[in-house]
Amino acid sequence: MFKKILIANRGEIAVRIARACKELKIKSAAIYSEADKNSLHIRYADEAYFIGPSPASESYLNYPKIIELAQKIGADAIHPGYGFLAENSEFISAAEKSGITFIGPSSKSVELMGEKTAARALMKKNNVPVVPGIEKPLTDIEEAKSAAKIIGYPVILKASAGGGGKGMRKVFNENELQQAFERAKNEALKAFGNSDVYLEKLIDDPKHIEVQIIGDKHGNYAHLFERECSVQRRHQKVIEEAPSAFVDEITRRKITDAAINAAKACNYYNAGTVEFLMDKNKNFYFLEMNTRLQVEHPVTELITGIDLVKEQINIAAGNKLSFDQSHLQINGHAIECRIYAEDVDNNFAPSIGKILHHKPPLGPGIRLDPGIDAASEVTIYYDPMLSKLAAWGKNREEAIERMRRALGEYQISGVITNIPAFNWVFNQPSFIDGTFTINFIEKEFMPLIPDKWKEQTEQNYEIIAAIFGALIKNELIRLSPVYNNHQSDKWLSQNYE
Ligand code: ADP
Repeated sequence: MFKKILIANRGEIAVRIARACKELKIKSAAIYSEADKNSLHIRYADEAYFIGPSPASESYLNYPKIIELAQKIGADAIHPGYGFLAENSEFISAAEKSGITFIGPSSKSVELMGEKTAARALMKKNNVPVVPGIEKPLTDIEEAKSAAKIIGYPVILKASAGGGGKGMRKVFNENELQQAFERAKNEALKAFGNSDVYLEKLIDDPKHIEVQIIGDKHGNYAHLFERECSVQRRHQKVIEEAPSAFVDEITRRKITDAAINAAKACNYYNAGTVEFLMDKNKNFYFLEMNTRLQVEHPVTELITGIDLVKEQINIAAGNKLSFDQSHLQINGHAIECRIYAEDVDNNFAPSIGKILHHKPPLGPGIRLDPGIDAASEVTIYYDPMLSKLAAWGKNREEAIERMRRALGEYQISGVITNIPAFNWVFNQPSFIDGTFTINFIEKEFMPLIPDKWKEQTEQNYEIIAAIFGALIKNELIRLSPVYNNHQSDKWLSQNYE
C-alpha cells in the first residue's frame, strides 16, 4: 500500500480524498494556490504545499511542478480527483514515467475515451449502442450538410474534445447549420484548444442515465447500478440520484451490461462512469465515458455501502476489488444537490466573497461533502461549488423529504447560494413522479416567467438565471424555512446575517 498520497486538487473532492487516506492510514499531502491559502482542504490533509499563483494553469494544472513536488516529499501516488488533471493523458504518462502511481486508469484508456468520435467508434465495435451520428470530426460545412441529411434533423453539433457541456449546439434545419457549425467550432477552439466538431441525432426529450463501473488491474469488473442526472442547467448536472425512478429491472440489466462492455473495450481499471441518454421507450445510447471519479459518486456510495475513493486507492496499489458483483444490491435511494455560490438573482453569476457563517444540516440520512467552512473565501478562480448535500432514505419519498428538511436547515452566509432553487425543484410534480427529462428546467420554468424573457434564444443560460431570480422575487420559489424565519427580506442582499 502507498505511504503518502499527493492530492492534486482542491475543494470538496480534496477533503473527500484526504478523509479516505486517513481511514486507510495513508499520509495525505495537499497542494494549494495563492487564492487557496486558507482553504478547508489544507486542514484535512496531513501536509500542505504551496504550488503557485491562483490561476489554475499556474497551480493545479502545472503538472511538471506537481510531479516534482510528489518526488520531493516522498509521495508514491497522486490522486487527481475530478476536473483539472484527472483526464489529462499527458500528465498520466508523465506520472507513470516518473515512477509515481496515478490513482486512475492507464493513459491509454483515457486517450481511447478522451476523443468523443473515436470513443463512439470503439463503442459501436463493442456492441454498445451509440446516439446515431458520425464517428469522425467534420472537415467542412458541405460534409456537415450531407451528414445531417442522413442522420435527419434535429441534430446536435458537439466538440470532439468536449466536456462540461461546452461547445454544443442544437440545429433544427439546414438553414441554421452554417452559422451553428462556425460557432460550435469557435467555441470548441476557445474551450478545448481544438476546433473539431461532429454531429449526432438530437434525442427527443431524453433522460441522462449513467452507470458507475469499477475495474481492477486483474481484469475484474463490477457495476454499481445507475444514477439519474437529468436535472441540468446549461447541460450541467445540479441534482443527481441513485437509482433512477425510471429504470426497471430489465432495463437496468441491459444498461449495466453495456457499461461493463464499454469499460472492457478500453481495458479500464479504476472507478469510471459510462453516460447514456435514455428515450421515452427506454432505448439508451452511449454519450461518453468519464475515466475518473465523478462529482456525484456519493449517491452511489449511499445506496451500495461501497467507498469508491478507498476502492480507487486499493486498485491503484494493485489489489483486487474488495467485492464482487454478487455482493452488491441497491439499498434505498439517495439524492444529491450541488450547492453553488451563485447569485440566482443576477444571471447565476458566481457569488464571490468570504463565507461568514456555515451551519450544515445534520440528522438521519444526511451526508455533506464540504469544500468550505466559515472563513473560507469563494474566489473568481475556480468553480464556485461550496458543498454537495446528499440525502438517503429507505425509498425515494423518504430521500426527498429528508432533502427538503436538510435544505431548510442549511445555513450559509456571506455569499448567495442556489439553495432556494432546489426548494422549487423538490415541489414540482414531474420531479416527484420521476418523469422529468433533461429539459426539465427549460420546460417547467418557462411557463412561469414573464414573456419578455421567453423571447430570448433557448441556449442563453441567462434565461434560466433570470427565471430563478424572477421566481424568488415573485415568491414563486419559497425560501428555505430557516431563511423565511430569520432573514427572508435579506435574501436579495449579499449577506444574510
Ligand atoms: P459533455 O462532455 O460536454 O458533458 P455530453 O456529451 O456528456 O457532453 O452531454 C451533456 C448533456 O448534453 C447531456 O447530459 C444531455 O443533457 C445533452 N445532450 C448531449 N447529447 C445530446 C443528444 N444527442 N441529444 C439530446 N441531448 C444531448
